[in-house]
Amino acid sequence: MDIIVLSHEATEEDIQHIIKRLAGWGLKINLSQGTERTIIGVIGDTSKVTEEEEDSIRAATGVENVVRILKPFKLASREFRKENTIIDVRGIKIGGKRIPVMAGPCAVESAAVLTSIAEKVKASGALFLRGGAYKPRTSPYAFQGLGEEGLKHLAEAREKTGLPIVTEIMDPRDLDVISEYADIIQIGARNMQNFRLLLEVGGSSKPILLKRGLSSTIKEWLMSAEYIMSRGNQNVMLCERGIRTFETATRNTLDLSAVPVLKQLTHLPVVVDPSHGVGKRDLVAPMAKAAIAAGADALMIEVHTNPEEAMSDGDQSLKPEQFEKLMKELKPVAEAVGREI
Ligand code: PEP
Ligand code: MN
Repeated sequence: MDIIVLSHEATEEDIQHIIKRLAGWGLKINLSQGTERTIIGVIGDTSKVTEEEEDSIRAATGVENVVRILKPFKLASREFRKENTIIDVRGIKIGGKRIPVMAGPCAVESAAVLTSIAEKVKASGALFLRGGAYKPRTSPYAFQGLGEEGLKHLAEAREKTGLPIVTEIMDPRDLDVISEYADIIQIGARNMQNFRLLLEVGGSSKPILLKRGLSSTIKEWLMSAEYIMSRGNQNVMLCERGIRTFETATRNTLDLSAVPVLKQLTHLPVVVDPSHGVGKRDLVAPMAKAAIAAGADALMIEVHTNPEEAMSDGDQSLKPEQFEKLMKELKPVAEAVGREI
């Protein structure tokens, strides 16, 4: 028993009665009031609930049906919620008809460089500014990010441009300080299965952008989303950023088939990051277009005013004029699939 579908006549009292019975079995709930129906998602280990107990819930007043979800993820599943989840960030919707583009440097390097990039991407139509202040670098000797100083620069750039910011968390100990500044908190590929971190951000009210792990299956990825959602935070978006394969022509293999697969399996918005997916500037535009054609709800693209001098990911960062051109080229692709940029 994983989902309890309530009838239109169900009263608050009926709902409370069900919640109390579930609590008696050590189970918690997530109430989802959709346009078509109200459902109670049962959180916890439901395998111990007997068939008789399940029947007694089915027979309770206000209950229309009780459904078992066979998939290991529940709150994230399409069965749990039929309608697409739309996440509202400062009035910008992710998961609706419009496809917001999140753009900016890989890392926040200085206030001046960041603001200049932010102004340029905004002028081209980006709706979010991205930039890492805490960077997960392969080498401990590489630039690790500016930390809180970087967050301050992001806030300043938001002040100047109005663009909400997306920035990465690596350590639960930074959640308070990052929450002070970020509009969307990113969990990077390397931390997709950092379960303690997932639980911490699950207790936050900030929307979470969960990147796919370097070698993670779609199922593992959705289980990570489930970790976040099981703690109460339902505002999770999934970001495909390429996976490890035998291919070496590109930095990763951007798995665009994940987009329609996710659309079947989950109601959560799907973001595509072609920059990390391909790792090479010239390949970003075609894959960004393909991502939209495949059904992406948002794009994340790295842009730098001087990629040759960038402190990280310069090879894959677009120059502002290339980004501007791409944004224009994306419009007809979006329109062709019934969306807008
Ligand atoms: C990034 O967004 O700059 C980043 C480090 O991404 P990923 O976790 O996908 O490698
Ligand atoms: Mn990067």
